[in-house]
Amino acid sequence: MKDLKEFVRDIPDFPKEGVVYKDISPLLQDPEAMHRAVELFLEKLDGIKIDKVIGIEARGFFFATLLAEKLNAGFIPLRKPGKLPYKTIKEEYALEYGTDSLEIHEDAFERGEKILIHDDVLATGGTALAACKLVERMGGEIAQCDFLVELEFLNGREKLKGYQIESLLKY
Ligand code: IMP
Repeated sequence: MKDLKEFVRDIPDFPKEGVVYKDISPLLQDPEAMHRAVELFLEKLDGIKIDKVIGIEARGFFFATLLAEKLNAGFIPLRKPGKLPYKTIKEEYALEYGTDSLEIHEDAFERGEKILIHDDVLATGGTALAACKLVERMGGEIAQCDFLVELEFLNGREKLKGYQIESLLKY
């Protein structure tokens, strides 16, 4: 089959001028490519036991749920403020201008559970680091963070030093 990179397209000037956005929609539209991506994620895990897979809103949800099912693990959404219906715990993080935050249900997992954090793209690493901190505050153990796409020139991996980071497609 075609290289998975052929299923990721560049969208210039989205969401704002000067940014080249990696769009994974073509990959999601192709069942064979999705299947291959799931296989590769499972290989990167190399049999590590995972209790819960966390997907980061919104594009992290797609593969996080597929992986959870394959790993016989639960799925947990990490969402933007105000979206989750039950009691939540929040982690704030810095953006280029201002701050953003992510929330999780306070009963999403038990202390000591092994957590896989997943998102579509690793850019500066700020989002994933906030996710890691939130999980650790709640007593979770981060087994791995995995991403479909890694924008290496933004050094997200550096920000996430100390965690096991895996990505399928590096740019
Ligand atoms: P970071 O916090 O700078 O690492 O940005 C990562 C977050 O922004 C992830 O939740 C991604 O979904 C999103 N993101 C950043 N760049 C892109 C991109 O080029 N395509 C799709 N999502 C992106």
